[in-house]
Amino acid sequence: MAVIAFIGLGNMGSGMAANLVKAGHEVHAFDLSASALAHAVENGAKAAKSTADAVSGAAAVVTMLPAGKHVRAVYENDVFPNAAPGTLFLDCSTIDVDSARFVGKAAVEKGFRFVDAPVSGGVAAAAAGTLTFMVGGAEADFAVAEPILQAMGKAILHAGETGSGQAAKICNNMLLGITMIGTCEAFALAEKLGLDQQKFFDISSKASGQSWSMTSYCPVAGPVPTTPANKDYKPGFATAMMLKDLKLAQDAAQASGASTPLGAQAEALYAMFGNLGGQDLDFSAIYKMLNGSWKAD
Ligand code: NAD
Repeated sequence: MAVIAFIGLGNMGSGMAANLVKAGHEVHAFDLSASALAHAVENGAKAAKSTADAVSGAAAVVTMLPAGKHVRAVYENDVFPNAAPGTLFLDCSTIDVDSARFVGKAAVEKGFRFVDAPVSGGVAAAAAGTLTFMVGGAEADFAVAEPILQAMGKAILHAGETGSGQAAKICNNMLLGITMIGTCEAFALAEKLGLDQQKFFDISSKASGQSWSMTSYCPVAGPVPTTPANKDYKPGFATAMMLKDLKLAQDAAQASGASTPLGAQAEALYAMFGNLGGQDLDFSAIYKMLNGSWKAD
């Protein structure tokens, strides 16, 4: 078991750090938010005074930060100057591929190990230790990272070289946004045609329209009792988070020259739903905009 610095103890990082403590690691935690840090301490972490303080003497550093600019700044200003040579860095934030490659390259050039390891699964999976990690980095660094990630997740998948974890994450979430909108449109049309929602689910979930958005995350209340649709669309995975990932996918598509017209449309529809007041609801709540029943407060 190791001393692990954990930077960024928000909705996701809080549960993840708690699971590292449960696995027997000594977690040195830091967050700019005093309340987030206090919560981590309640869960068994040791409060550090700063990122520099958390990183000093740690064998590994986990970061779970909002976006690429935060990750670049934290590594360049606080992590690189204070970590011991050979320290393993695991950035679990969802960020743009270019930032992941930039930070990873700089880390390796300075004699550290680096993996980008964004997650699939929301706050509940972070708390339960059942996240899926999509990992980019050298084979040897993946081998060192894997046992640490196992304390926080149920599936640890190596996607390829540095940046590949972020690439897998945004491609997956672009597909998720598209299939969710398609599933919502199909339910909305079924409703207009007088088709019972449960009957449509029973048929489509066993026919060629089946997808994860249909059978695991059904956007209408009833067929899958555990989904946010049955809890007034409390997230889950918030619309604002889906929009963030769809924007990252479109930026990456533009930079790489990929053609993603449905991804672009999904981004536009989620932006519209966010502007109408849906940003804090689960992303499956876009069903209400698509079936015409959405009423902004
Ligand atoms: P959050 O805003 O709740 O947490 C981020 C934390 O980072 C905050 O507590 C903030 O104070 C802290 N922070 C920001 N800058 C810092 C700095 N310089 N030093 C120290 N702490 C700093 O966000 P979250 O929901 O926990 O998401 C974190 C990451 O995980 C994001 O990249 C997000 O896209 C990704 N993600 C979130 C979900 C989800 O469902 N919430 C799911 C998958 C992936």
